[in-house]
Amino acid sequence: MTSWSDAGSREALSLVAASVAEMVGFEIAIISVVRGDRMHSVAVEGSHEIRTAMLGVATPLRAATAELERADDWGRFRFVPHERTASDLHTVGWVPDMDPVEGEDAWHPLDLLVAPLYGEDGAMLGLLSIDLPLTRRRPDPTQRHLLERYAAQAERTLRMAVERDELGERIRLAEAARGVVRFASAQDDLERVLDDCRAPLLEGFRADYLGIRTYATSELAAVGSPPPPVSEALMDNIRDIARRAWDAQGVVVAADHLRPPGFVSEEQNAAMLLAVHDTGMATSMLVPLGSGTECLGHIALGRVDPSLPWSPDERASAFDVARDIAQAVVRSRNLAHEQRLVEQLRDLATYKAQVLSTVSHELKNPLGAILGHLELLEGVGGMPTDARRSVAALERAALRMRRVVDDLLALAEIEDPEADVPGEVLDVRAVIDEAVQLTREGAENRDLHIDVVVPHEEALVSFDADDLDRVLTNLLSNAVKYTHAGGSVALTVTVHDEEVEIAVADEGIGISEADQERLFTEFFRSTNPQAVARPGTGLGLTICKRIVERHGGRIGVQSTLGEGSTFRVSLPRASRDARVAS
Ligand code: ADP
Repeated sequence: MTSWSDAGSREALSLVAASVAEMVGFEIAIISVVRGDRMHSVAVEGSHEIRTAMLGVATPLRAATAELERADDWGRFRFVPHERTASDLHTVGWVPDMDPVEGEDAWHPLDLLVAPLYGEDGAMLGLLSIDLPLTRRRPDPTQRHLLERYAAQAERTLRMAVERDELGERIRLAEAARGVVRFASAQDDLERVLDDCRAPLLEGFRADYLGIRTYATSELAAVGSPPPPVSEALMDNIRDIARRAWDAQGVVVAADHLRPPGFVSEEQNAAMLLAVHDTGMATSMLVPLGSGTECLGHIALGRVDPSLPWSPDERASAFDVARDIAQAVVRSRNLAHEQRLVEQLRDLATYKAQVLSTVSHELKNPLGAILGHLELLEGVGGMPTDARRSVAALERAALRMRRVVDDLLALAEIEDPEADVPGEVLDVRAVIDEAVQLTREGAENRDLHIDVVVPHEEALVSFDADDLDRVLTNLLSNAVKYTHAGGSVALTVTVHDEEVEIAVADEGIGISEADQERLFTEFFRSTNPQAVARPGTGLGLTICKRIVERHGGRIGVQSTLGEGSTFRVSLPRASRDARVAS
């Protein structure tokens, strides 16, 4: 019998059966154990014929207890004289083929002599039944005294065997749980997690069949190993049972003669049993895979051997193990969800870059034409002063539009997720000059001074030269733009071990703390009226940040309203070797 796989325990019980038969003088001694609602004979002493007929036989527990109620109390033993034994006695014991001897104390083939064996908690663990006395007479007082002692010994041995069995079961279940946790937490590919959990589950729960199934949602397909094609109605039924089981925080065992739990109807149970039998199994345990209030799937474990009950430890352990698997299901679903979101965002970014680029290209040409013609108009002689003023205003407006279009184009370029990030090893000092020259013109008009402090050593970074120029020009022109006439701006380059830092500091209007937080977002322009008064698109700093981050750097600001601001760009330091290599 499979539920008593411990050979040591079975041997010890066989030894007790053999000694009781031999020492007290009986031909037959049988020890049975209670498993679920049945009694299984695990040790049989007797002739070869008796052993083959009786070993592993399962009888309903009810039949045995009914016999006990009719019995005479002989201490540990109970005796049921043949007149009182039930007609279906053969379900409980062996009916020996013998001719009764003469006399009042003659042993009758239908006499029953059994000792119920109890656990420490008083629950019945098994039964020791003996039959066929060599004397062919009912035991005398000496024999009965001996029988008491053997019944006590059988009880001790059985208690130990049950303990061993339970301990073994706990170890097995713990190992299964460990195996599942290891696989379930190690990776995100759900199919693989479920695959890897198969072996520990089958082994740990001594199951012959395992089906793990996650339910499809509107977004995700079902994953797992469904039983060979199941009808939709059956699937719905099982899904409903699993959901109810999750609500009740338990498992559902399906077996013939077993009443389903309250939350499963008789029809549901019958349909489930049919499915269990269809897979060639005798019994099954349905374990919900749940998380929070949601039932995400189920695990079905099946056994061929109908005599092997799903023990309370196994039920509790399966429920816990399923919780770990459910976490893996949740994780993988979240991951799939995130991946889809990332894809959608990327599509959106590509679309946005396309729109930006198309619109600004379309605007750039007519703008060029407008500016060109305005220039022509400026050269026309004899134009009235009013008209000339209008042409100048048109030109300022068109130039402003060109700035916006240029910034939008730049944004489209760096926003495009498909575009390569250009990069070459260059010396920041070389790029600075050009940007400073460009800004200086505007600065001098307003009596502004630009100080430049660069190190003697090379300040190498891996960067696209045009991009770096754009960042520096932006920061410098902002510093000039937002500083009062007569103030000063400083650009400092510092080389650190790992980074090259470029700082642009001004003594201008400064930026409030609230504004600092939103400074680098698209189209953001300060709420400070002094800042709004100066022309701008609100795109410059966004472009700077994107460019810097695309090259693996950081940009930040320190500022005090009314005192000035310092923008710092930190870039990973590159080396000459990289330059040679590239
Ligand atoms: P804009 O084209 O408006 O200058 P930016 O993205 O370059 O766009 O800057 C966004 C906002 O940040 C500006 O409108 C301004 O309010 C503020 N700002 C940027 N640089 C400075 C600075 N050096 N001093 C004060 N405010 C600044």
